[in-house]
Amino acid sequence: TAEVVPQAPEDALFGLMRAYRADENPDKVDLGIGAYRDDNAKPWVLPVVKKADSILFNNPELDHEYAPIAGIASFTSKAAELILGGPDSPAIREKRISSIQTISGTGAVHLGALFLSKFYPGTKKVYVSKPTWANHHQIFNNVGIPTVEYPYFSKETKGLDFENMKLSLLSAPDKSVILLHACAHNPTGVDPTIDQWKEIATIIRQKSHFPFFDTAYQGFASGDLMKDNAAIRYFVEEGFELVVAQSFAKNFGLYGERAGCFHIVTGPAPEAQSTITRIASQLAILQRSEISNPPLYGARIASTVLNDQALFSEWEENLRTMSGRIISMRKALRAKLEDLGTPGTWNHITDQIGMFSFTGLTEAQVLKIREDAHVYMTKNGRISMAGLNTKNVDYVAKAIDKVVRE
Ligand code: PMP
Repeated sequence: TAEVVPQAPEDALFGLMRAYRADENPDKVDLGIGAYRDDNAKPWVLPVVKKADSILFNNPELDHEYAPIAGIASFTSKAAELILGGPDSPAIREKRISSIQTISGTGAVHLGALFLSKFYPGTKKVYVSKPTWANHHQIFNNVGIPTVEYPYFSKETKGLDFENMKLSLLSAPDKSVILLHACAHNPTGVDPTIDQWKEIATIIRQKSHFPFFDTAYQGFASGDLMKDNAAIRYFVEEGFELVVAQSFAKNFGLYGERAGCFHIVTGPAPEAQSTITRIASQLAILQRSEISNPPLYGARIASTVLNDQALFSEWEENLRTMSGRIISMRKALRAKLEDLGTPGTWNHITDQIGMFSFTGLTEAQVLKIREDAHVYMTKNGRISMAGLNTKNVDYVAKAIDKVVRE
């Protein structure tokens, strides 16, 4: 039977990473993978994470027993407060939220998809932005939910194609699941404004759609935790029933530790608490069959920081360091391209936010710049801003300038 297993293509992003590693050119630049790098192009362990690390290391009480099925409660409860804007969120006050620890954001999207595939009575399709994080398609398809794309990115303005996005959400069958990036859209770096979010909410309400938020960049995008969760807070304040897949990979720099959370918020109703109890029981069953219980380490680190005021403030400072460096690289890249007089407009580099920028480079240009200048980016022209630093931004700008003129 082994012969019937066809060869699958290598994951595009991890393939790119491998090609970069194998490249021996000293000028090579990695703008592929979405992981933060410091000004020396090195991974950055957040100082607050180092502190939490030593607190955990010196705690004689800690052992390696199994976590509960739903994960570490001191972590999931603070994760909920973080994404909903604090303990005064109506969903938290009214105990209308069920939270379960997951294998980072990917595991949260998966658990959410699995839960909806079993229990969501609406249309069995999920609407995702065109483009979206490529893994969204695979995750939903793997649990039998086909993905349909709604327009999102305008090639002309390199901003939001808002009119067509709205038309598409309006013409989707009622009760469709709509996947939304809470902030710092991956791969485009283009987010709706708060007024546009309000219009999106109105359409979702009108069509009885179901919002599925994916949040992987809270605090990382703007440096302000409350700004980066504004869309979710708005939907919750408006009384929507929704789900949230939350990753702590980027904002804590805990990529490989796989700390994440999945939340279900029900609407305000007299029976909301019993609904939440039933939902939690089903999530626990799904979790048990998939991973039994989630990993401890990353959640312990995050929990240590989220539950201590001084460490929390220090974390916010670390977030500002990361987002600030990225914002300054956006400014630098745009300024260099404009100085060089590179054909085209480059305002989108600073208009877009978060980890990524959709440069507008074509696939042919992406391949050319990789071959000629050893600058690595994904084929869709997405660059990870974190790969830029004060030492390579000139080089990258010149390489882009050259490939655009060719
Ligand atoms: N959703 C989006 C939109 C992302 O960009 C990412 C990170 N690439 C994730 C989810 C989840 O990543 P992780 O599983 O590493 O938390």
